[in-house]
Amino acid sequence: MKTKLVKMDALPEAGEIIRAGGLVAFPTETVYGLGADAMNSEAAARIYQAKGRPSDNPLIVHIADMDQLDLVAREVPPLARKIMETFWPGPLTVILNKKDEVPDGTTGGLKTVAVRMPSHPDARALIRESGRVIAAPSANTSGRPSPTTALHVLEDMDGKIPMILDGGPVGIGIESTIVDMTGEIPMILRPGYITKEMLEEVAGEVRVDPAVSGRQMPEHVVAKAPGMKYRHYAPKGKLTLVEGDTDKVVDKISRLAKEKEREGFRVGIIATDETMDRYHTGIRKSIGSRENPDTVAAHLYGILRECDDLDLDYIYSESFFEKGLGNAIMNRMLKAAGYHLITV
Ligand code: AMP
Ligand code: MG
Repeated sequence: MKTKLVKMDALPEAGEIIRAGGLVAFPTETVYGLGADAMNSEAAARIYQAKGRPSDNPLIVHIADMDQLDLVAREVPPLARKIMETFWPGPLTVILNKKDEVPDGTTGGLKTVAVRMPSHPDARALIRESGRVIAAPSANTSGRPSPTTALHVLEDMDGKIPMILDGGPVGIGIESTIVDMTGEIPMILRPGYITKEMLEEVAGEVRVDPAVSGRQMPEHVVAKAPGMKYRHYAPKGKLTLVEGDTDKVVDKISRLAKEKEREGFRVGIIATDETMDRYHTGIRKSIGSRENPDTVAAHLYGILRECDDLDLDYIYSESFFEKGLGNAIMNRMLKAAGYHLITV
């Protein structure tokens, strides 16, 4: 299959592809998504095939208008509605009980459905143009870092899907927060740009699934978002995170990097704007500014992909405070590092 990389003027053709059960990759404010008609199980099956995704890992259904919620959700509790009214359109996915019409192929056999109303104008335009609700996971090959540019999507999906809509680099750079609203108390199943603190302000008490809040591999707890149990976001080289007092972190990373370089390996260092100049070994990359965690989130996956392009054997990265957006950043980094974290 030939993959077309096109701009938004190809929107009518993109809508036709979705209606015919085909796949279109498109930008959202979080990461690029790989979209298909959510109510067509054959179309959803094509997503799993293109990504090489395990079939028990359900998809998020994207809507453009509140009317579309009734197509997929059996009921919407008042607190869920309040949360949606506050954070939609935006980077928040809500788990609700599903309507029978939503195929098992979209929800991985679950009786619940994940729904999100994205704010990216291109995503909204595609949903409206197609006249469908669009199931879309991140548009990467399963296990690779999520795509934050159309070229990242092309790297993974070339020859596997008919069309990629190029809307430029995304704004946020990490996937949506997932909150389960089927129980009494909202439960965060995946941390993201909408933080626990932001949700608490609107919803009162909010809990976090133990499987995603820990700093250790969640071996004995079963993740409630099936996707969170898979090795994810990982670069090919071995990534190690170092945390602690900044001077000590710089020192430790420098020593580890020197050691591996001496052994003949290709070594990368993930630093910050503030510490970049303090490293003198390996291939150095700044992930963003500590003063502005948004920049760190925006560059995270691009840098992990660069580590692959550079064929790095060992990568050492600084860590981030697990507060606010830092929670989501560290959740993704710990997974990418296989939970390999050194405290100095
Ligand atoms: P992705 O869009 O690639 O970020 O993947 C979607 C994420 O949403 C995965 O981690 C899924 O496990 C999660 N998800 C989708 N539907 C549900 C659901 N009904 N219940 C819990 N998690 C879900
Ligand atoms: Mg994904």
